Amino acid sequence: MNFKQRLLKELIFCSLSSGSSGNCYYLGNGFGSILIDAGISATVTRKFLKDIGVSIQDIKGVLISHNHTDHIRGLEVLTRKNHLPAYTTVNIWKSIFDRGINISRDCIRNIQKEERFSLAGFDIEIYPVSHDAPETIGFHICSGGKSITIATDLGYISKTAAGYIKKANLLIIESNYDEQMLLDGNYPYSLKTRIKSDHGHLGNHQTSEFLADNISGKLSHICLAHLSKNNNNPQKALQALKQTFSDKEVSLKGKYITVLNRNNPSEIIDLANQSTLRVSSKSL
Ligand SMILES: [Zn+2]
Ligand SMILES: [Zn+2]
Repeated sequence: MNFKQRLLKELIFCSLSSGSSGNCYYLGNGFGSILIDAGISATVTRKFLKDIGVSIQDIKGVLISHNHTDHIRGLEVLTRKNHLPAYTTVNIWKSIFDRGINISRDCIRNIQKEERFSLAGFDIEIYPVSHDAPETIGFHICSGGKSITIATDLGYISKTAAGYIKKANLLIIESNYDEQMLLDGNYPYSLKTRIKSDHGHLGNHQTSEFLADNISGKLSHICLAHLSKNNNNPQKALQALKQTFSDKEVSLKGKYITVLNRNNPSEIIDLANQSTLRVSSKSL
């Protein structure tokens, strides 16, 4: 079986890019493939998909979390040139149109916060998160008995978000900034305050503390995501996680841990087989 056939047969996750410069995740299963967010240009999205053996024609739709540029940069072109249906709430659509972004009418799909829906064989639930956009949502996606929760762009982990995080086999969770780097850096005070606020982003220690206190037995893969370019680096994020677990005497044994690349595709995670096709050196 070649790599493309593998991708189309199993439950696969690959981050094409993750961070404050652009976010786009690929999910595939036996029925089809979807993207989550379109925060890198359409050209780069198509190239990165090609790099992992997937054609843009294989993608059945893109889910959009909110209207910030790092989540919708490629949306206008992907919908216009590739006729890719895009799914989000009425309020998020409004916030996208308010920014002057044109989306082909036939590509617009509305989803409701309270309802589950199916797309390309995935069973999808959305949940609200606290962030500084008019509306922001997270995703909990199931297929083939496995589930993935996406929890990025949130200032704090609400009870609702915590529930979805605890249900996941694969967790994509924000670890946006190192608290000391943000404090020492040259961002204006108002921006530092916004990032740290309940409507901003999760810091390394915030994420690590939550995970150490709430780690579930079913969680097999943790991907630290959406790292800041200026206020974080993969070593700091990973070290905070290891140190916090060690301090709290909680074991990470058997968990696959990685930090998603900011500007390149990540390793490919195959949940159906509970393995990775390209094993990261950051696996603990
Ligand atoms: Zn973002
Ligand atoms: Zn955002």
